[in-house]
Amino acid sequence: MRVVSYLVLARKYRPQTFEAVVGQEHVTQTLMHSISADRVAHAILFAGPRGTGKTTVARILAKAMNCEKGPTARPCNKCRSCLGITADSSADVFEIDGASNNSVDQIRQLRDNIVFMPSESRYKIYIIDEVHMLSLSAFNALLKTLEEPPSHVIFLFATTEIHKIPITILSRCQRHDMRRIDHGSIVSHLESLCEKEKIEVQPESLSLIAQQADGSMRDALSLLDQVMAGSDGAVEHEFVLSILGSVDRAAIVDLGEALISGDIRRMLLKTGEIYTHGQDLLRVYNDLLAYLRDLMVVKVARTPEKLINLSKAEIDALAGQAEKVPAAHLAWIFEKLYRDEVTVRLSSHPRMAMEMVLIKLGGMKPVLSIDTLIEKLDDLKAAFDRSPVSISDSGIPDKAPADIPRPPPVSSSSPAPPPPLVPADPEDPGQKEMHQQDSAQTTNDPDTIWAQICRQVSEASPALAANLVDSRLILKGEDRVEIEVSGGEFNLNMVRRKKNMTRLEQWLTDHFHRPMRVTIKGNVDPRRDRQAEKKKNDELKKKALTHPGVVDALEVFEGRVEKVNIKQEEDQ
Ligand SMILES: [Zn+2]
Repeated sequence: MRVVSYLVLARKYRPQTFEAVVGQEHVTQTLMHSISADRVAHAILFAGPRGTGKTTVARILAKAMNCEKGPTARPCNKCRSCLGITADSSADVFEIDGASNNSVDQIRQLRDNIVFMPSESRYKIYIIDEVHMLSLSAFNALLKTLEEPPSHVIFLFATTEIHKIPITILSRCQRHDMRRIDHGSIVSHLESLCEKEKIEVQPESLSLIAQQADGSMRDALSLLDQVMAGSDGAVEHEFVLSILGSVDRAAIVDLGEALISGDIRRMLLKTGEIYTHGQDLLRVYNDLLAYLRDLMVVKVARTPEKLINLSKAEIDALAGQAEKVPAAHLAWIFEKLYRDEVTVRLSSHPRMAMEMVLIKLGGMKPVLSIDTLIEKLDDLKAAFDRSPVSISDSGIPDKAPADIPRPPPVSSSSPAPPPPLVPADPEDPGQKEMHQQDSAQTTNDPDTIWAQICRQVSEASPALAANLVDSRLILKGEDRVEIEVSGGEFNLNMVRRKKNMTRLEQWLTDHFHRPMRVTIKGNVDPRRDRQAEKKKNDELKKKALTHPGVVDALEVFEGRVEKVNIKQEEDQ
């Protein structure tokens, strides 16, 4: 065990120059510029989450302004003023905690004090932390000073709750917003400190600490303090997990995978295991939620590292897991899990609550998008075509004799080829030509070629064939064709799906015996003009409702018409 009497890391390694501040370059560089240009405001407000360096930057700024070599963007840290500020003993720099000095009297005292010149430095500098804690009357007293600050006074305010500061104060301050420090910066800072302290901590431990610190360097350092205080020499990851009360990420990933695959047995086993280890199940539940959230982000974001508090290696692992799961499925689980968080949080039996939620989720079938369903149907049909089992007329599957090979789906000798999707026109010479030259495939007529391709399409993918009804092939050159698709956006989007485009290109390439590129364009069919269609439908409805058969049926059954469905005409 280490001897307890040591400076906590946050104090020992508190940055003493602007350059040493981690993750707030946008603030420190602006300040350095304004110091060099001699344009430092007399009231500056630092806003941002806890532990992001607000008072640290304020103290460096105080040094910069009062340094005997200054004002300078790079305080010397050697002169009396600099050393005084480091040691909290400077006679002209006052650090005030807004939370405990928030009365109007204290601010009045401060105001009376301000009129006196600094005793040994250039400026009297007041650093007021948690300034939002001041009472309204204290703010009003402060406002008087801020309206006309003496030239030898600088106010530096820090707050985590900017919205609690009156607008009258805000408007008199120059404001700087501190950011949450990103995961990578925290980890590399911790690494460098471990090196200086000659202590070995595993990378996954540092990543976990940074993750828990959630953008706060002070929290990260205090967690590292705890880890270092309790260990002797090299620190095992297990030990860090126990100190931080965390569940090993591997366990969360395992639980998450079981959840995604709907493996209820594995989910219960894992939950039981974690529970037996004495872990807080609500925390585990939230870790699981965070895991799913991260999977979603990896799935949809282009630069996930900006949105996820994890190391590069962990994000890569997530990407591998996300690849196997459709985004819609992930979103569905995430939403259900998120909604049920309150069930686990408010339960007096968190284990049972969590098990209930997991079982419910595992037993539910995910909602599939229409696209996915259509794709699945196509796949099913393709698999069925490939399988040696055929359906006899009686509907009972027959096992085809193994030695008789099944004919390929498309063949000129096929006894009953499905009708081409392009309406057969007896007057169309191309159509006749197609029947004659079907197998030879030597025609140059685009309609004929397209009719042949469409037959292949309807064999292999009825869904795609349906999207290609009334479509047209246009030859655009030696290696390029265009397909004009009718029937609106949905059809267009379906045809444009990568899988369908690849298939179409393959069929056309096979047909022409050379690589073909396919482009798709839409064709607004005048017959689909909505108004005309609506008018026609209304007429059809009226006709249907007054049809003698319908009228009779209504009378006989004493019924009423709930809904009239218009059947699409065959040629549309
Ligand atoms: Zn100095």
